[in-house]
Amino acid sequence: MSTDKQLKFDQRYLEMARIWAKNSYCQRRQVGALVVKNNMIISDGYNGTPSGFENVCEDDNGITKPYVLHAEANAITKLARSSNNSDGATIYITASPCIECAKLIIQAGIKRVVYGEKYRLTDGIELLERAGIEVVYLGDE
Ligand SMILES: [Zn+2]
Repeated sequence: MSTDKQLKFDQRYLEMARIWAKNSYCQRRQVGALVVKNNMIISDGYNGTPSGFENVCEDDNGITKPYVLHAEANAITKLARSSNNSDGATIYITASPCIECAKLIIQAGIKRVVYGEKYRLTDGIELLERAGIEVVYLGDE
């Protein structure tokens, strides 16, 4: 694929991840993620509580509950229940991944990460780069 075409696809998938983030019922932050392999979306996720839990992310003090799953973790673990896998895939995330999600991305065999919003902590991105994963930042336009 030409770099021009790749960039266009990257922008479109990230745009879709931003739309998907709107499914999140979290108040503080809404994050979306898509896993794409061979030009197909094979998984998706947004931040939220595990299946079967109440659809509320924050406690009475507005603090995010410790069991809220990040969008990337939801997208990757969804694949664990499917017949597909993320080996060699690209993950599109609306925001920079944290270090916990970076570990999952590495172990899931994902080879490329495209994200759209920088975060003050960069340890997740640094870990991905250390693992030889291609990391692409595409800011809001
Ligand atoms: Zn995370």
